[in-house]
Order: sequence, then structure tokens, then C-alpha cells
Amino acid sequence: MPLISPARLEEVTLTSQESLRYARHLTLPEVGPEGQRRLKAASVLCVGAGGLGSPIALYLAAAGVGRIGIIDADIVDESNLQRQLLHGTADIGRKKIASARDRLHDINPHVEIEGHEVLFTSDNAIDLSTPYDLLIDGTDNFPTRYLSNDVAVFLKKPNVYGSIFRFEGQATVFAPHLDGPCYRCLFPDPPDPGMVPSCAEGGVLGVLPGIVGTLQAIEAVKLILGAGEPLLGRLLHFDALAMRFRQFNLRRDPECPVCGDHPTITEPIDYQQFCGLPGQGAEDQAAAADQVPTLSVQQLDERRRSAPRSFTLLDVREPFEHDICHFPEAVLIPLGELSDRLGELDHTAEILIHCKAGGRSLEAVKLMRAAGFERASNIAGGINAWSREIDAEVPLY
Ligand SMILES: [Zn+2]
Repeated sequence: MPLISPARLEEVTLTSQESLRYARHLTLPEVGPEGQRRLKAASVLCVGAGGLGSPIALYLAAAGVGRIGIIDADIVDESNLQRQLLHGTADIGRKKIASARDRLHDINPHVEIEGHEVLFTSDNAIDLSTPYDLLIDGTDNFPTRYLSNDVAVFLKKPNVYGSIFRFEGQATVFAPHLDGPCYRCLFPDPPDPGMVPSCAEGGVLGVLPGIVGTLQAIEAVKLILGAGEPLLGRLLHFDALAMRFRQFNLRRDPECPVCGDHPTITEPIDYQQFCGLPGQGAEDQAAAADQVPTLSVQQLDERRRSAPRSFTLLDVREPFEHDICHFPEAVLIPLGELSDRLGELDHTAEILIHCKAGGRSLEAVKLMRAAGFERASNIAGGINAWSREIDAEVPLY
């Protein structure tokens, strides 16, 4: 079944100016004037105007996709510019939606850009997604990824998926209504919070989202045209360091709670809770932190001065973060290795644990207390709080 119905296609014509603009498409037999009208008739919702959202939106606008919705509630930050090419230096401090709209209209004034300056949540996801033909997942966190997946399944719309981390990325098309799997068929359970560092914590090569987002844009265009073989039931994995693409076959899971034969989830759920994250309110975060003994950076400062040998300082960040800044006396064990390396630590000692901002160290304290380290405590705010509040010479990153 084509994404654009014959009735909708009928309503769309190309102006002579558009024919000129899309000349290189019109000569392709797989696109041609009819395909270009399909693109013009189509609407795509891009969840996120960041690293992946940038190439996705830039190329879809240039290709002439008639209506492009973009959801993003962020402000352009200087640290975005290394990979988010929708935004420029002059846009720092502007809303990403505003910056994206200007850039996309400059690329192609013939397409409609609909900016949604909101967080994509369980409350608004169905209403936001319904007016579009397909979704493209440009999100960078697990709750929103599961939400995009579930909503696309409920609404029977393709969800063009992409994700990136450090030097690797992957892309596929989720569409159970076209016999493919959904995201939950692959990953029924989210990873434990804190076990997978985000791009903010783990880093990402700036060029990488350019590759993965462009793959997503190609898949969206193919789905609209009905051309070629969609990346359905196949996960394409890209390793930039090895410069290698690999492909994995995927299958729909008949037991999947969302797209399976007997679904148990039929409307959006609480994705923060599902992913084991505290709610977005500061109170919830404080409540989660309250459950483990916690020291402020001021208390750490006092302890380091008065009794430096009375405790072990444990750093659970990644080695590259340690290279940026660290406490000279701290022991480095990345959170992902901690459960295998507990033997290196004295379980009777007082252990004060820090990371960058306090999230991973909170997980580390819970893990260690569960393993019998009864004197493990968290340093609230991590080494960034130390940099802000105690010692400005320590680089903030
Ligand atoms: Zn599924």
C-alpha cells in the first residue's frame, strides 16, 4: 500500500519553478514527476533537531518533502555545533526550532516547516504524530525512543530509526504493519539507567550523525516513493573507525508487548518509569538521591583536607573523562566495569564515589551497597560541581 494515496497524489502539482529545482530528480525513472509529487504530498515528523535531526531535516527539505514537522524544546548551545549542522554560530542561545526553520526555509522555500517547541511526551505524542505519514527518530535518550516506537506502532506509521554513539551508529526501519519488527522486538527492556553513557557523557564523532541521519533521510524518501528495498527487517550497523558497514537480519517477535500477536501495551505508558529513571522534576531526582548516603562537594573538600587517608575516592567515569580532569588520589573504575572489578576494593573501607554529574555514581553506590560495601556514598553533582563550586581550575566539560 503506497504511503501517499492516489487521491492525495491527485491534488498535488509541481510549479515550473519546482520542476527546475528538482530537475535531477525528474530525470531519475525511480522518482520522475510522479515521485516528486509524492514527495511534495508527503509529511514527515522528525523527533529531535539535533545531531541526527540536522541531516534528516536538511536533506528532506532539499528533496522537496512537502511538510516537515520538527519536535525540539532545546536551545542552541555552542557544544551542539560540532555536529548539528542545522544551527550556526549566530544561532547560539536561540531556540533550535527557530534556527531550524530559518535554515530549512533558506534551503527550500517551497516546503512547509512545522516547528513543535515541546518535549515529546506520553501526553502529546499521539496528537503530534497523527497528522504525519511517517516518523523519523532523531532522539538521544531511551524514554523518547521507546515512546516514538510505541506511538508509530499504535498509529501504523513507519518509524525510521537511527542511533549514534562515539564512532558507531545504526539505522533501520521499524514498521510492524509492513511485517517488520519494532524497537521493542529487539530491545524489550531498556538498559539499566547509568549503564549506557549518553552522547553527552560518552562523546560522539561530529561527522557520524551526518552518515546515520543521511541514511535515515534516504530510507524516508524511499518509503515515500515506494522505490527500492526498504531497510525493513534489517539493521545496518556502521563502524567509522573500521570504516565498515554490517547488516543484521531482524525478525518481529510474536511475543512483543506492543506489536506482538497479543499486545499488552496499547497506549503510551510512563516511559521515565519504564526506563528506571526518576521523573523530570527536581524533587523526584532528590528523592532518588536520598535513598543513598550522599556528600556535597563542600563536604568532600572538608574530608580531603581534614582526613585524606580515611576514605577511598572512586571515580566511575570513562578513561577519556579522567584524562580531562581528575582527583590525583582517585581510583578509576568505569561504571560498566565496576561489578567485575569489585575485588580491587576493600569492602570495609569508606568509599566516596564520583562521576561527572552524579548520575553514574548514584548507580555505582547502589550497586556497591547491594554487593556488601556498606560504607559507599555518592558525591552529589560530581566533578563538575567541584569545578563550579570549589576549584575553577578543574576543567568543566
Ligand atoms: Zn515489536
